[in-house]
Formats: sequence, structure tokens, C-alpha cells
Amino acid sequence: MRWRGGRRSGNIEDRRGMAPVAGGIGVGGVVLALIGYFVFGISPQDTLSVVNSAGAPSQAVGERGIPDDEGGQFVDVIETSTADVWTQVFAERGQRYEPPAAVVLYDQATGTGCGTGQAAMGPFYCPADRKVYLDLSFWRELSGRFGAEGEAARAYVIAHEIGHHVQNLTGQMRRADALGRQGADSGAVRLELQADCYAGVWAARADEVSGGQVALGPNDIAQGLGAAAAVGDDTLQRQSQGRVVPDAFTHGTSEQRMRWFRVGAETGDPQACDTFGAPRL
Ligand SMILES: [Zn+2]
Repeated sequence: MRWRGGRRSGNIEDRRGMAPVAGGIGVGGVVLALIGYFVFGISPQDTLSVVNSAGAPSQAVGERGIPDDEGGQFVDVIETSTADVWTQVFAERGQRYEPPAAVVLYDQATGTGCGTGQAAMGPFYCPADRKVYLDLSFWRELSGRFGAEGEAARAYVIAHEIGHHVQNLTGQMRRADALGRQGADSGAVRLELQADCYAGVWAARADEVSGGQVALGPNDIAQGLGAAAAVGDDTLQRQSQGRVVPDAFTHGTSEQRMRWFRVGAETGDPQACDTFGAPRL
């Protein structure tokens, strides 16, 4: 995918190389049991309260701005591109898009407005402080454990988390909360599939909005679809416990995640991403 000439806004808070927060390491066992829940998730407050009880996290503050390294710059360009796309989308409705407070890059563990963030959780968005949290070692997991290779797969992950931020701004996150957190048609699943669709909307519009500087070709879209499939609840459950338990779904199946990403990527229209009104998820 094309991205190196893309605009950089430096909406990055770099905590890499900082000491992990106190209380973050000892609770690793608790958090590891929750990986399936957290992968690409919003951070559920009820689960995090368990994590919190092991030690109140101190909120570290990292360096803000454009990172020096290529890995950090990639995240910066993709976040900036999502901001440009969502600014356009919101403006079409006479509204103003407010980007997330930052994308926080960190190693292993860090304090967040939602409790202690752990790399084992995978990337997540914290609605309380409006930040996306990302340990770049997740890219290795994405290509190794999940088998999703390439920059477009990574961009999909970032755009999905930004999708949660959009849902926070529009109030859909509260709507999902009211519907409940568990089960195949829960608010949590509807929220996740909508974030996948929003990632598709970004993929559809990035090229035009950036004047061709950030662009996904057909192979890149296929990579994004592959990543969406790799993190479906059914696929993850089959890997970790050898069977599929729809009552425990929090993100949707591989087929659903691919389909909703494709809806966004083919229409470029967030109105098409109404997973709350859809008769079939
Ligand atoms: Zn998610």
C-alpha cells in the first residue's frame, strides 16, 4: 500500500522505552486469560476493574509528535489519514470531527484512563481518555499467530480502533452498552462489526482525500479482509479452545467481519454501516 508521502500530524504519544507502570506486570496472568476478549476490542470497564484492583495505574506521559522511526511514522500517517477522511465525512453532515487525543505507542504495559493497558490485550481504544493504545509488537503477532501479513492488515487494525473513537463521538458506544455485552447479536458485536465497516470506509476514501498519497489497491483490500477474517470470534475460539461458542461472541465471526469491512470499502458511506438497524448481522 502507498503511505510514505502521506500527511503526518504527529498525533502520537510515544511511551516506548518508558518503564512499565507499577502494578502492570503482576496482573499478566489475569489479563492473558482475556486475550480473546480484548483483541481489537474497546476496553470493557467491568473487566478492567478486575485488572485495576491489582494496583492503580499511574498515568505516564510520553513524548508527543512525529516519531523518528518508520514503524511510528506509519502509525502517524494512518491516523492522520483517518482524521482527514472522518473530517470530510463529518463535514458532509455539517459536523466537526475531533481526532482522538492521541495514539499511544507503548511497550508491554502502561497506565490508561481505562486501567492498566497490557500488550497482551492487543490494540484497544479507551473511551474515557479518548486514546488508542498500541504496542507495535502486535504486528508480529498479527502476521505470526493470526497469519495476517502486510501494511494494509496493520492499517486495518488502526482504522478499526479509530472507528471506535468515531462511535464514541457519535454516541453509538453508549447505544451498544445499553444492548448488553455478550452473545452473537449483542451490542458489543454490533459495535465491533460497525468499526470494521468504518475501517472499510476509511480504505475507500483515503486515496481521494490524500490526493493519492495514501492508497490501498485491490490486493491491499484483500489483506485487510484477511486480517478481519483472522480475528473473527469463531476463528479465535476454534484456535484457543477447539470449539465455537456463539454465546461468548464479542466481535463477530470471520465471515461477518469480512462482510462488514467490505460494505464500508465498497460504499465509502458510513450510513451503510448501520449494524444496529441491520436485520441480519
Ligand atoms: Zn474493536
